[in-house]
Amino acid sequence: MEHFDVAVIGLGPAGAALARQLAGKMRVIALDKKRQQGTEGFMKPCGGLLAPDAQRSLIRAGLTLPVSVMANPQIFSVRTVDCQSGLTRNYQRSYINVNRHAFDLWMKSLIPSTAEVHHDTLCRRIWRDEGRWHVLFSVNGAEQEITARYLVGADGANSMVRRSLYPNHEIRKYVAIQQWFAEKHALPFYSCVFDNTLTDCYAWSISKDGYFIFGGAFPMKEGQARYQALKEQMEGNGYQFGPVIKTEKCTVLYPSRWSDFVCGQENAFLIGEAAGFISASSLEGISYALDSAEILGDLLIAGKAHANQHYRSATRGLRLKLLGKIGKANLLTQPRLRRAIMRSRISDITLRA
Ligand SMILES: Cc1cc2nc3c(=O)[nH]c(=O)nc-3n(C[C@H](O)[C@H](O)[C@H](O)COP(=O)(O)OP(=O)(O)OC[C@H]3O[C@@H](n4cnc5c(N)ncnc54)[C@H](O)[C@@H]3O)c2cc1C
Repeated sequence: MEHFDVAVIGLGPAGAALARQLAGKMRVIALDKKRQQGTEGFMKPCGGLLAPDAQRSLIRAGLTLPVSVMANPQIFSVRTVDCQSGLTRNYQRSYINVNRHAFDLWMKSLIPSTAEVHHDTLCRRIWRDEGRWHVLFSVNGAEQEITARYLVGADGANSMVRRSLYPNHEIRKYVAIQQWFAEKHALPFYSCVFDNTLTDCYAWSISKDGYFIFGGAFPMKEGQARYQALKEQMEGNGYQFGPVIKTEKCTVLYPSRWSDFVCGQENAFLIGEAAGFISASSLEGISYALDSAEILGDLLIAGKAHANQHYRSATRGLRLKLLGKIGKANLLTQPRLRRAIMRSRISDITLRA
């Protein structure tokens, strides 16, 4: 059985950034459900908007974004809609609109060949024995087992690693549903939709490469029916849908208290959304995925003893920032406060056309 320094489970932005940082410095194996290329197989449902914090992380990593990853058009504002009051406001935002799957494959392509990467691979089980982590995974139906000194769960919202490390840990979750349509609006736009009768989270729309994507995060119970009801409501608000081209569904975490952030134990670490590192106010998670990977990468390379303790304290700032986002989300999802903010017209840009 092969032994590695680090086994990384999942190569979304978090795992791919970490594997890239560690490759050549430690003996790394990385496993990912997505294929290496193409649009077959698993693709992460996402809005694909890179927030300024994610852009800063890419700058620190010395990365420039290839045009092939970017989506058309780039939009500089978000239309915010409060369904019950009928209020609509436009706020300036500096997102970069990317094709999320292309972004993920590009991030994976940056991992140096000194790391052993298995694509189209499912990690099935992890366990600890005699001070080593054992990882069981399947490639083309055949099972393989390796051991590693450090194990990293970068396997996203439904993290198998988090569930194994913290079997009793509960975190608030929503079902995110997105549908893709041919873009028919004369002026493409991003929007953020609040309707407290259908979800205490929020919904969104994005224009991307000739598609109009409408999605939302809904309570697990009756999520599909709520999505449908919101879609019908927005049709009355001028949103143009037409035939559904693609429907995507996944779990999205919604941290709502400090203990929702879990960093790992016994030389196993959680990074990105697996750790609960996602903004409750915007569901923006790519920057936290990249930042937590960077923090852990620095620590592992430094080879410090008591690495779990160091990781917990090194992510304190990131977790405090996310705690602030929980506070912001609590304000924004309260209809009266949200409407007061919208009525104040602070930061609103009035459209002339
Ligand atoms: C609908 C939706 C829209 C969003 N929009 C945005 C947005 O516009 N901007 C933004 O910043 N954030 C957005 N987010 C949040 C963002 O997508 C996540 O926070 C981010 O992807 C987390 O990155 P990650 O690397 O931690 O995990 P992920 O991106 O989820 O990557 C984990 C990877 O692990 C792999 N994996 C999982 N389990 C296994 C296993 N058992 N074996 C092998 N591989 C496995 C999968 O291939 C997966 O790709 C959105 C989320 C949702 C649900």
